[in-house]
Amino acid sequence: MTMTASYAAARAKAPLAPFEINRREPGPQDVVIDIQFCGVCHSDIHQVRDEWGGAIFPMVPGHEIVGTVSRVGRDVTKFKAGDLAGVGCMVDSCGVCENCKRGEEQYCVKGANYTYNSREKNGDVTYGGYSTSIVVDQSFVLHIPSSLDLAATAPLLCAGITTYSPLRHWNIGRGSKLGVMGLGGLGHMALKFGRAFGAHVVQFTTSPGKAADALRLGANEVVLSTDPAAMKAQAGSFDFILDTISAPHDIAAYLKLLKADGTLTLVGAPDEPLAIPAFALLAGRKSLAGSGIGGIAETQEMLDFCAEHGIVSDIEMIPIQKIDEAYERMLKNDVKYRFVIDTASLKSADAPA
Ligand code: NAP
Ligand code: ZN
Repeated sequence: MTMTASYAAARAKAPLAPFEINRREPGPQDVVIDIQFCGVCHSDIHQVRDEWGGAIFPMVPGHEIVGTVSRVGRDVTKFKAGDLAGVGCMVDSCGVCENCKRGEEQYCVKGANYTYNSREKNGDVTYGGYSTSIVVDQSFVLHIPSSLDLAATAPLLCAGITTYSPLRHWNIGRGSKLGVMGLGGLGHMALKFGRAFGAHVVQFTTSPGKAADALRLGANEVVLSTDPAAMKAQAGSFDFILDTISAPHDIAAYLKLLKADGTLTLVGAPDEPLAIPAFALLAGRKSLAGSGIGGIAETQEMLDFCAEHGIVSDIEMIPIQKIDEAYERMLKNDVKYRFVIDTASLKSADAPA
């Protein structure tokens, strides 16, 4: 066991505070990673506030983890000490169900073992990346390309794969008109991938102040979703829309923007059900779908694609002591476009904020 500095929420909605966790001694297949950076996902906020139910406290959030391998178990072949490594939302899965076998561990029939607010196969609670180290089975550890800025690579482990995977699944590329709803952590990655795949990308935002940034990040068009005339002008024109919005919103207004046979896919996970009028789907044979993160093989494919195309997240670095402030800013849509924790700040975890 290794005592490890971390930050945890003691109960739902509690401010995060210094906390010590025990990381296990590495087993034969385990990789020990010294965490350097961890991205801050809106899912961290949903879970710290127990908005999805079933939260386990104390909770150490964080599933956009990058760092350097410090030690490996005796049967580890994929990594060696000194390698850059990453961990996303999962640390294990059953490995034998139909979905695991085809590399979609995120849809494990038994439920994947998530990086935090979840349990290992042996029942131990998992603790995430707001921490100085983590021990993970080599099958769930990713190779991080050394050509990319390490801190700006962290958000690829969740925001990156969660947007890359559906765009690939629905074959978005040259000739597609893609809409992206919400310009936050996930949204700005969807925008970058959409353009890299060759699609015409329209960014929807409620924040007038983000319009210029959307264009800088590569959007072909920006639509202020609060402007009814601008929304109407896009009616019936999209092949595919990716919804990254974190709070309840009027999804029917966006279903109107799809072409016949178009698809709107949810990746955002608001804590309340969204209302779907039947006619919003049946007029035009439209599809409403969902997508959860991505499998390990596809996550590696995405990281390699990012290395080849020079794609990373736009980040604002924070010390762990500013985490509650970062959550507050995200809840006000004030994020450009991902907060990333520099875990060096945890080494002085009880330093004043
Ligand atoms: P984020 O950085 O906070 O961005 C969310 C964006 O949604 C905001 O910046 C804002 O964009 C927009 N928004 C927020 N409230 C809104 C409202 N009431 N009406 C309309 N737009 C609103 O969040 P994120 O980290 O990208 O995460 C987004 C969602 O995806 C969260 O629910 C998260 O839990 C979920 N998620 C799902 C998966 C998955 O596997 N499916 C993985 C990761 C995250 P504008 O300022 O541009 O309007
Ligand atoms: Zn996430």
